[in-house]
Order: sequence, then structure tokens, then C-alpha cells
Amino acid sequence: MNKKSTPINPFADHPRLWRNCRYVYPVVSRRAEGLSIGVNLNHDQFCNFGCLYCQVDRSGACSRESIDIKLFTEELTLALDEANSGRIWQEPRFANVAQALRRVNDIAFSGDGEPTICPDFAQAVSAAALVRERMGPPSVKLVLITNATLLHQPRVQRALAIMDRNNGEIWAKLDCGTDDFFRRVNNPIGGVTLKRVLDNILESARQREIVIQTLLFKIDGQLPPQSEIDAYCRNIGKLLEGGAQIRTIQIHTVARRTASPSAGAIDDGDLAAISEQVKAAAPTVQVKVYGSGK
Ligand code: SF4
Repeated sequence: MNKKSTPINPFADHPRLWRNCRYVYPVVSRRAEGLSIGVNLNHDQFCNFGCLYCQVDRSGACSRESIDIKLFTEELTLALDEANSGRIWQEPRFANVAQALRRVNDIAFSGDGEPTICPDFAQAVSAAALVRERMGPPSVKLVLITNATLLHQPRVQRALAIMDRNNGEIWAKLDCGTDDFFRRVNNPIGGVTLKRVLDNILESARQREIVIQTLLFKIDGQLPPQSEIDAYCRNIGKLLEGGAQIRTIQIHTVARRTASPSAGAIDDGDLAAISEQVKAAAPTVQVKVYGSGK
């Protein structure tokens, strides 16, 4: 019997596995508007958040290990070489990617946990900067996708300084307006507070332009309370008043299977309505909305 083949949706197909690589996984990302070469430094899957919407499967046993910088460099070189030569677009997972998206946007530190927790984070950023400089193109960004909890630590600041010299960009997570909702949604460990996240975002964004990523979702079928949206908008307003340079706020919702069955996608209409409130609170900031894509 002839089976109809189902086209692969390049945006939904985001495995952190590529060839035999340990650290590097290219994906086509709507937010990157092109190829994003993901870097996973978190093979121990450790995170200091336990977000209800997290998509990391932590059911398997994992162990801590230091990063093999030589191997990481080789893998990143391979990925950029495949992308620069155009060979990567012949792979089945990328075969349906539109021509306009066939460009390398970034090397993105984003893995199975918070990237800045990795003790070798600064060394990995330094190695990535060298590969980027050697292989380019110069427009390729070094992106850090982070929950912002550790941005104040000196070892992380050293890595951020390297990023700043290499077309770096911080994409900082901010999902909440109040500490109560923060504890419920992001489930932080080690006494991390929303104030710590906001202080770190403010300090980082005073030094360079940043992107804020906000994931909104239904909990047990309920939209986030209006009081929470209001408090979130006030937080954004305070960041801007304090001198934060926020280039873009990305508002998105869950698009794949989540850690908690209580977390569900917000439909496009509700997400658009919430984003209008964010736009009103931050009229100078570009607000982009990404639905679940379902
Ligand atoms: S910060 Fe990221 S990796 Fe950590 S629990 Fe939340 S979604 Fe998962």
C-alpha cells in the first residue's frame, strides 16, 4: 500500500539531536526567522526553575559532566560549515524550509536547562565566539536564552562581555507579574525571587539592548488572571522607566508537550488581546506574538 508522506513542519520539529553531535543542534526557528544553531550545555538537565510548561523530558537519569570544549568547537564548526555551504537544507528535516528562512541567524545557548548554570558557560561562549569569527557570516548572533536568574554572577558577566563583543543578544524570560504567580508558574528553587529576575533584567538591559521572552499559557484551562497581566505590564513599564533597553518582547504560548498536563496553549485571539495590553504598556517596544501554531 502506498503511504502518503506527511511533510515535516520545520518549526515543530525541534529535536536536540543532530547527527552524532553532543552539544549542537540546528533548528529553524520562527523567532530567529532562520536557522538557529542551538547549543545544549545542560546534559545533566539541571535547571533552577521547574516551569509548568517546560518541554524537557527529565524522566531519564542524567549526570553532571564538564563540557568538552574541543568537541563542542568541532561540532559548531561542522554545523556552520553545513549551513554556509547550503548542504544542511538537503536534510529531510529542513527540506520544506522556505527560501527566505535559509539563512543562519544565530548560535543560541539554550538547552535542557538554564545555560548559565553550566560551570563551563564562559569557556563555551568564548569558543563559540572564536568559531563565529572564523566562519561567520558577521551577521550571525550569539544568543543566550536565559531565565535571567544568574546574570548578576561575575562568571556569567564575563561571558556576557564576550557576547557583547561578538554580536551577542540576551533573550531573557519574564512570564509573571507577581512573586506568587512566579512561584506557581516558574517554580524556582534555591530561594530565587521574581525581584532577582527583574533586577538582573534591568541591570543587563541598561548595558545593552535585550529581548524579553514571555510564555503565557492556560493552567487547567484558565487564562492567566487579569491582575497578573496588569502586574506584568507594570513590571515592563518599571523596567523601561529604569532605563532598560528592550528591543522586542516575544509573547508566545506552549506549542509542544509540557512537563505539567495542567499547562495548555492559549488560543490566538486571547493571545492577541493580551499582547495589545502589553503594547499599550510598552509603546516604544516591538511586541511580537507567536501562537501555538496548531
Ligand atoms: S527555565 Fe527553561 S529549561 Fe528551566 S524549567 Fe523553565 S522552560 Fe525548562
